[in-house]
Amino acid sequence: MATLFISDLHLSPQRPQIIQLFFQFLQKQASAAEALYILGDFFEFWIGDDAGLGPEYQPVNQALQQFTASGIPVFFMGGNRDFLVGRDWAGHVGVQLMQPETVIDLYGERVLLLHGDSLTTDDEKQQAFRNMVMDPQWQAMFLSKPIPELLEMAQQARLESQKHQSGMHEEIMDVNTDAVAAVMRKHGVTRLIHGHTHRPHMHELMLDGKPAQRIVLADWYERGNVLQVRKDRFELNYFDAKQSGQDNGGRAVK
Ligand code: MN
Repeated sequence: MATLFISDLHLSPQRPQIIQLFFQFLQKQASAAEALYILGDFFEFWIGDDAGLGPEYQPVNQALQQFTASGIPVFFMGGNRDFLVGRDWAGHVGVQLMQPETVIDLYGERVLLLHGDSLTTDDEKQQAFRNMVMDPQWQAMFLSKPIPELLEMAQQARLESQKHQSGMHEEIMDVNTDAVAAVMRKHGVTRLIHGHTHRPHMHELMLDGKPAQRIVLADWYERGNVLQVRKDRFELNYFDAKQSGQDNGGRAVK
């Protein structure tokens, strides 16, 4: 029995092959899991639970609902794309929402979970966006708009994000090591799991004289990725879809 962590699937009705890959993942890798943790940007964008419970996401919602009904707990943290995922949707599909910084007990060890966008502090534009959208007043204002307007705003935000990232230095989009140390110290952990940067790796580091580890999950743009944890064993595994389809999702956007 393993505990599984995934992030950055960026699911959208425009990329049906990744939705299929997720279904395959639920049926195979995840079917015997102890628990499944989703660490943000599960959806490419989210304009509120009203729209998310509509027909476009019905297959994903139904698959999650069936999976959680089988008794395997699923924990969900929003990312910078799907931070508006709320209780209505979570209750409908049976997942438990997590706070942006959550410490879990993983086989006796305290481990910190984040999406990861709070760590890219050198990217000022991303941080300004994060500060804006994390404000409950901004969220209430946003969610009160009609769905067609929200769809247009989401589309606009994605285009701007693409433009912003294409002109940026690679290092700026990666985590800031001071921010990593600060958040690990704040929670008193020596292991951190996050996604967001699409730079999968198991980083060994020293934190105040102690060995520590930062595990970065991969995106699902070209293939699937899962962190499988058993007691004292951490493995980042990749898997492909059986069917090969042309992904027209464009450049991978965080
Ligand atoms: Mn992200």
